[in-house]
Amino acid sequence: MSTFQHGDLKVPAGTRANGVLGEVQQASGNAITVPYTVVNGRQDGPTFVVIAGSHGNEVVGTGAAIEFARSLDPSELSGTVISVPAVNMPAVSAGVYVSPVDGINMSGPHYWDSEENGSTSRRLGALVGAVLERADFVVDVHGNNEPCSPMSMMFLENAKDEATAEVAVRMAEAFGATPVDMSAPTAHPAWLGPMDVYPAATALARGIPALMVELNGARTLVDSRRGTQGLTAILREIGMLPSATQKYEDDTRIPGRFGYWGALSASAAGIVWVRHPAGVPFSAGDLLLEITDMYGEVLEAVRAPVDGFCWWYPGAPYGQATHALPAGSTVALLAERR
Ligand SMILES: [Zn+2]
Repeated sequence: MSTFQHGDLKVPAGTRANGVLGEVQQASGNAITVPYTVVNGRQDGPTFVVIAGSHGNEVVGTGAAIEFARSLDPSELSGTVISVPAVNMPAVSAGVYVSPVDGINMSGPHYWDSEENGSTSRRLGALVGAVLERADFVVDVHGNNEPCSPMSMMFLENAKDEATAEVAVRMAEAFGATPVDMSAPTAHPAWLGPMDVYPAATALARGIPALMVELNGARTLVDSRRGTQGLTAILREIGMLPSATQKYEDDTRIPGRFGYWGALSASAAGIVWVRHPAGVPFSAGDLLLEITDMYGEVLEAVRAPVDGFCWWYPGAPYGQATHALPAGSTVALLAERR
C-alpha cells in the first residue's frame, strides 16, 4: 500500500493521521475548519468514506464517525478509510439542523460538482466533495430523536446500475439495523423528493455503493456505538477487514424486506400520544397514534395504512420533534413490508 495524500496530509501505509480539509473564512476573522481522519491500511484496497453531521443536531452520527476511525487498526486494514465526522461544522457547533451561517441543509447537492466560490455551506461541501471524489464506498450517518428506531436508507432507484445497488444492499444488511428501500414510496406515487439529492443517493447515481443510516437519540452519543459497530461490519463485508468469526447482529433488526411507504400526516391539531412503539412491526389497521385536545378527548385516531413499521414519530415542526402538533403535521415515517 502506498502513502495516501490529500492536500498537505500524507499518511504512510499502516498508519492513521488527523487533519483539516480546509477552511472557510468568517467575518470574525476566524475560519470554519473541517476536521477529518485518514486510516491508511497496510494492505492495498478501496477507499471507504464515512461522513456525518450534515444535519448539525444529529451529533450521534458525529460520535460514530469519530469512534469508528479511532477504533480501526491500520495493520489489519486493506485500503483507506476517511472519516469526516462534521461536514456541517457550524451547525454541529450550534446544535442545529441546517447551517446557522447560510441556512443551507447540507444533506443536499453540495459535494460532487460543488461550488468552491459559493456560500459557506457550498464551500464546506466542496472541501468534503474532494474527499468523496476519491470514494469507492460511502456511508452517511444521521440520527433521529426518540421515539424512533435505528434503520438504514437504501436509495436503490438512484443506483447507476444493478451491481451498484447490489453492493448497497449488502452494506445495509451488514450494518445491521433494519434496511428500508427508499425507492418509489407508495404514498407519494409521483414523488421526486429532496432525498434524491442526499449524498448517499448522489453517490449511488455515480456508481458508488452508498448507504444512509439513522441512529437513535440524535442529540447525544449514547447510540454512537451502534454506528461504530455497523460501520466495522460493513468493512468486513466488503473485504477491507478480515471477516469476523461471528456475524455482527443488531438486536433491533426486524426480519423481512421493507420499502418506504411515505410520511403519514394527521389532520387534527393537539397533543399526540404514541400507541404503538417505533421499531415494532404492525399490521394494516393497527392503532399507531391518538391526537387529543387539551382535556384528553380523542380528536383523531391514526391507524397503520399497511403492514410495516414506523422508524420515527417526528412530531412537529419537522425535525424538532415536539409532540404538541399544529394541524396537518407529519406524524410518522413508515416502512411497509414487501
Ligand atoms: Zn439527518
